[in-house]
Order: sequence, then structure tokens, then C-alpha cells
Amino acid sequence: MQTSGQVSIGATVILRREDFQELLDALRAQGYRTIGPTLSEGTIIYDEVTSVADLPAGWTDEQGPGTYRLRRRGDDALFGYIPGAHSWKPWLRPPLQRLWRARRTDDGFEIIPDKEEAPRYAFIGVRACELHAIQIQDRVFTGGAYVDQTYNARREQAFIVAMNCTEAGETCFCASLGTGPQADAGYDLAMTEIVTGGAHHFVVDIGSKAGAQVMSVVPHRPAMGREIEMAQCEIAGAADHMGRKLNANGVKELLYRNLEHAHWDDVAARCLSCANCTLVCPTCFCSTVEDVTDLTGQEAERWRRTDSCFSLDFSYIHGGSVRSSSKARYRQWLTHKLATWVDQFGTLGCVGCGRCITWCPVGIDLTQEVATIRAAEQKAEAGGARQVMGD
Ligand code: SF4
Ligand code: SF4
Repeated sequence: MQTSGQVSIGATVILRREDFQELLDALRAQGYRTIGPTLSEGTIIYDEVTSVADLPAGWTDEQGPGTYRLRRRGDDALFGYIPGAHSWKPWLRPPLQRLWRARRTDDGFEIIPDKEEAPRYAFIGVRACELHAIQIQDRVFTGGAYVDQTYNARREQAFIVAMNCTEAGETCFCASLGTGPQADAGYDLAMTEIVTGGAHHFVVDIGSKAGAQVMSVVPHRPAMGREIEMAQCEIAGAADHMGRKLNANGVKELLYRNLEHAHWDDVAARCLSCANCTLVCPTCFCSTVEDVTDLTGQEAERWRRTDSCFSLDFSYIHGGSVRSSSKARYRQWLTHKLATWVDQFGTLGCVGCGRCITWCPVGIDLTQEVATIRAAEQKAEAGGARQVMGD
């Protein structure tokens, strides 16, 4: 029997599929804009969802290096897909944003800062790896001396409904990085969708006071032990079926030792410097600023725009680009993700979502590139040891 009523942080309850709309309605009644997965132009994107009918019921996707295809599922799961090219980062930090305007005055000019009233977003269906990516961006944008005010204001107000993965994609490797497939912290509600034997419901963990408040007005009932066990079993199945692994053991030192490895030339021969990998990556954060003036010279504006370390202009310092070759740009990207990011922010810059593999038009695969460099180094070491023994 479903009831509304008080729930406490740490409780686990059951939300029926037919009551999911009530959750969306409750969030919207509390002033949130509900953002979640929806079908668009042959893919699943994140956009405003006001109704369960907006969710990609019965759809999943097949992903591989340079490959993405939607396909029908054999059931009616609402969240039975692997995330597509979109992540939550544009909702927390717009890819194009006016920072301020300047207007000419009689004795100079005045600056008019652009202040936004931060939207209150409820993100529906945040995967564990995506939650880790948000936490990494928290460190980047709010963890230092200079806080990104736009990000901070949006982030502080965000309500997060995490969705544990019960299936894994061919390009996923979060399990090997410890960033999934189960959301472990930082959510208001964390759900596991169960679609078996005629049952269709969500096992919901209450993660915060805000989550408890919302669930208290949504029909639910306490979860039984076997329902919680089944959810754990489904998540474990996803962890066991990841298409890839990244051995992160000593990866920072491995890359620092191999900055001149011949394999960077091999990657460069394939890389198009298209920047797709950085644009889809949920942790990449590079931006540039551009100033524009009107034709009369009375007003000027400063805009911030998403950029990429793969663009030639990004490392332009007077006289030329510091990283003029694809080799230099790919090496910069990968060593930032897995080495210098650790020195900067105390964590890897990768959460194992696999987007950069799926959306790379030539299927460059960072797990494979790291494995190749590691194997070459091990082979060289083994050869050196044999040589010493032979001597
Ligand atoms: S580097 Fe690739 S796998 Fe890692 S978080 Fe970014 S897009 Fe995902
Ligand atoms: S690695 Fe792939 S996605 Fe990234 S810039 Fe090169 S070709 Fe484009």
C-alpha cells in the first residue's frame, strides 16, 4: 500500500512507476525546473521534462568507439539507457554567458555586471559517474580562491535525483575508477529502477533533508529487504558488465615518465583535433573570453564561451600556439585528465563515463592508449631485466 508521509534521511522506500509523475509534480510545485533525459534527433539528451511521457520509456542505446545508436528495449524502463553526449555541465555553467557590459560615459565608461537570478534545477536521472563529475567540477569552480559565482549559485540550489545503473555500456569503465555504477554520496534521492516479472518500481534512498521533504508528499511505501537486495544485485550486474577498464594504478607517474613516448605519434596520426572529446566530457571546463563592441562604439560586452584544449587558439600566446600539433594537444588533454589534474585538484579528471570514446569520430580510446603505453613500458623493463641477467 502506498502512502504519503514523513520519511527520514537514510530510509529506503519504494516509488511505483505510476507515481513517478507525482515526483515531477512535487518538485515543480517546490519551484524546481525538472531537467532529465528525453529523446531528440536520434539520441537521448538532457532537457526540461515536465511529464513522464517526456522520458525515453522503452528506449536504450548501443555505444562503441565512434558509434551511437538508439534501439528499442524489450520493456518499458524509463531510465534503461547509457548517457549520451549531454552531461549536466551546461546546466550548471552555461557554454555561452555574458559576463558584463560597458557603456561609454562623458568621462570614461561604466561597467554594468550581468547578474542572473540562478535557476533552481532538479536533475532527474544523474548517473553515479555524472555525480562524481559534478563533484570534480565543484572543486574546480568553487574549491579555490576564485569562486565561479554562476556555477556556485546554480549548484547550491540544485536538487539531484541520482539513478543507479543496472546496465553498463561498451564504453563505460566507472567501476574500475570507483565512480560507479552506484551513487554513493551527494544526492538528494538515489533510485534504482527495477523492471522484472511484472513489477516496475524504483527503490529510493533518501539522501538529504530536501529529498525527505519531497518524498514526504509523493506516494511511497517502505522497501522490503528482498527489494533492496534485488536492487543491489542489479547494480552489481552492471559493475560486472562494464565494457572497459582503466588501470589507474600509478597512472600519473606512468604518463609523466612517458611524455616523449612514440605512442603519442600514433594517436596523433588518428586524431582529428575536432574537440568532441572535450565537449562531451562532463569534467572538462576550459573556456575563453571574447570582447565585442557595437558599431557606434558606445557599448561593449564581455562574453565567456566554452573552449577546448584541442583548438589551436586556446594555447595562443603572443606569436603562436604553444601546442601547435595534434600530438601535443592530445598529450596535453590525456595527461591533464590523468596526471596534472591530480596535482591541481587532488583527483583524476576522469570518471569513466566513456563519452570521449563513443563520440570520438575515429574511436580513439583513452583506456587503450594508457594500456598501450603501460604495456610498452613493462615490455621495455622486462627486456632490460633479461639483458642484465644475460650479462
Ligand atoms: S575523459 Fe572521457 S571517460 Fe573520462 S570523464 Fe571525460 S569523457 Fe568520460
Ligand atoms: S581524440 Fe577524437 S574526439 Fe578528441 S580531438 Fe581527437 S579525434 Fe576529436
